[in-house]
Amino acid sequence: MEKTIFQYSSPGRTGVTLPVLDVPETAVPDEFGRKHPVGLPQVTEGQAMRHFVRLSTMNFNIEKGLYPLGSCTMKYNPRLHEYLARIERLAAVHPLSSDSSVQGTLQIMYELGEFFCEITGFDAVTLQPAAGAQGEFTGIMLIKKWQIERGQGHRNEVLMPDSSHGTNPATTTLAGLKVVSVKSDEHGRVDVEDLRSKVGENTCAFMLTNPNTLGIFESNIREITQIVHSAGGLNYMDGANMNALLGIARPGDMGFDACHLNLHKTFSTPHGGGGPGSGAVCCTETLGSFLPASTVGKTKDGYVLNNGGGRSIGRLMAFHGNVGVLYKAYAYIRTLGARGLREASEVALINANYMKARIKEYYEVPNDDGPCMHEFVASGAEMAKKGANTLDIAKRLLDYGFHAPTIYFPLIVKEALMIEPTETESLESIDTFIDAMIAIAGEINEKPHLVTDAPVNTPVLRLDEVKAVKDLCLVEPVEL
Ligand SMILES: *Cc1c(COP(=O)(O)O)cnc(C)c1O
Repeated sequence: MEKTIFQYSSPGRTGVTLPVLDVPETAVPDEFGRKHPVGLPQVTEGQAMRHFVRLSTMNFNIEKGLYPLGSCTMKYNPRLHEYLARIERLAAVHPLSSDSSVQGTLQIMYELGEFFCEITGFDAVTLQPAAGAQGEFTGIMLIKKWQIERGQGHRNEVLMPDSSHGTNPATTTLAGLKVVSVKSDEHGRVDVEDLRSKVGENTCAFMLTNPNTLGIFESNIREITQIVHSAGGLNYMDGANMNALLGIARPGDMGFDACHLNLHKTFSTPHGGGGPGSGAVCCTETLGSFLPASTVGKTKDGYVLNNGGGRSIGRLMAFHGNVGVLYKAYAYIRTLGARGLREASEVALINANYMKARIKEYYEVPNDDGPCMHEFVASGAEMAKKGANTLDIAKRLLDYGFHAPTIYFPLIVKEALMIEPTETESLESIDTFIDAMIAIAGEINEKPHLVTDAPVNTPVLRLDEVKAVKDLCLVEPVEL
C-alpha cells in the first residue's frame, strides 16, 4: 500500500528554511492566532520530493510513452510553450486590469482570434469557452438565438449522427433542445437519405464532427450542409478533430456556420489532467453578433475588450477565458507558421494510415474503404470470440508500456478500439506500439489468460472501474 505524505511526518521536521527576520518581532494578537495546530505533514524537502515524484511515475502520461487515445489528440506539447505562458508579465496579468495596461495580452488574444478565423474559414471568434463541450454549448446557443431573432424560436431539434461524441447530445439537452439521431451508412458516414428524411420545420441545427469519430472525412459534406440550410437550420461543426485538417480544409468552406477548436488537443495545451482547457468558437459574421462577452477588438488607439452588445448570448465564464492556454496556442501557431501547421496535420494522417495498414492484418477494421484521417477504429469483436475482449487488450497494452486507445467508442462499432497516434510520434515508437498489438493478438490465440489477467506490471492491477467512479476516494490509498 502506498503511504500518504502524512505517514512520513515526524514532529519537528521541516522542508523549508525561513530567512532571518528583518523586521521587529511582534506578538500576533490572540484573536488572530490558531486555536488548533494546522496539521500539515512535517517532512524534509527530500521526503516530499521523493514522495511526489514517485507518485507521478505510477500513472501513465505522455512523457512516459505513446498515448493513442482516439479523438483526444494526446500529442507531445513543446515545453517551450509552457515556459512562454509562465513569463511573469503575461502570467501575472490581473483580469480587472485596464485595457491600456494589458495591451500585450490583448494583442495576443486578438491575433490568435484572427489566426483561428483563418484556420477555420470564419469571420468572428470568442476565446471564452473553457472546453470543447462549452464551445459546443456556445455554438448551439448562438444558433438558437439566431433562430429566435428571425421568428423561428419553435425550432427545437438538433440533428447529429449516431457516431457523435457524448458531449453533442449533452450540449443539446443543456441548451433546452431535442436530440434527433441520424444514421451512419455502411462506410461510417452520415446517411444522407436518413438526414433528408429527418430535417424539417423543427430543425434548429445539425451538429457534426468532421472527420467523424471513426476517423473518416464526410465526403458528402457540401451536400449535407446544403440539405440543412435548405430546411432552415444551421450547421455546427464539432472541431475537436481539427488536428487532421490544419491548412488542408476549412469548416467555413464546407458550409458550416460555426465550430469550436479544442486548444487542449490541437494547439499545444496538454490535457488529461482535468484542465485548464479552451474551446474557442469561430463563426460567420451573422452569428458573430451573438457572441458572448468579452471579445477583443482593435481600434486606432489600441486593443480593447468589448463587453458584448444587447444581442450577445451573455457571459459563459468569469473574465476572458483561460488566457494561459491562449498564450500557448499563440506560441504554437507562431512557431510552426502556416506551412508547419499543415505539415503537422499531414504527418498525423500519415502516422494513422501507417498504423491502420499494419494493424488491420491482425485486427478487424470495419468501415475501411480507403485512407483514414488522423485516427481509425479497429474492432476487438473477433478477439472477444477467442476469449479476450477490448477491455482486456487495453489492460494488456499497459503491461507493454502504452496507454490504451479509446475503447467501446464510437458506439456503432462493436468492441471498438479507437486509435490516434498523432504527429509527434516517431516511426520507432509507432512500430513498437504495433508490435505490442501484434504480440497481444498472438497471446489471445495461444494463452488468452495473459491478456485477461492483465495488467500485471502496473502499480495497481485491475480495478473495479465502477467502484472507482462511484466511490472515488482521493484521500486514503486504496486497499488492494
Ligand atoms: C474531446 C472532444 C469533445 C469535448 O471536448 P472537451 O474539451 O473534453 O469538453 C467533443 N467532441 C469530440 C469529437 C471530442 O473529441
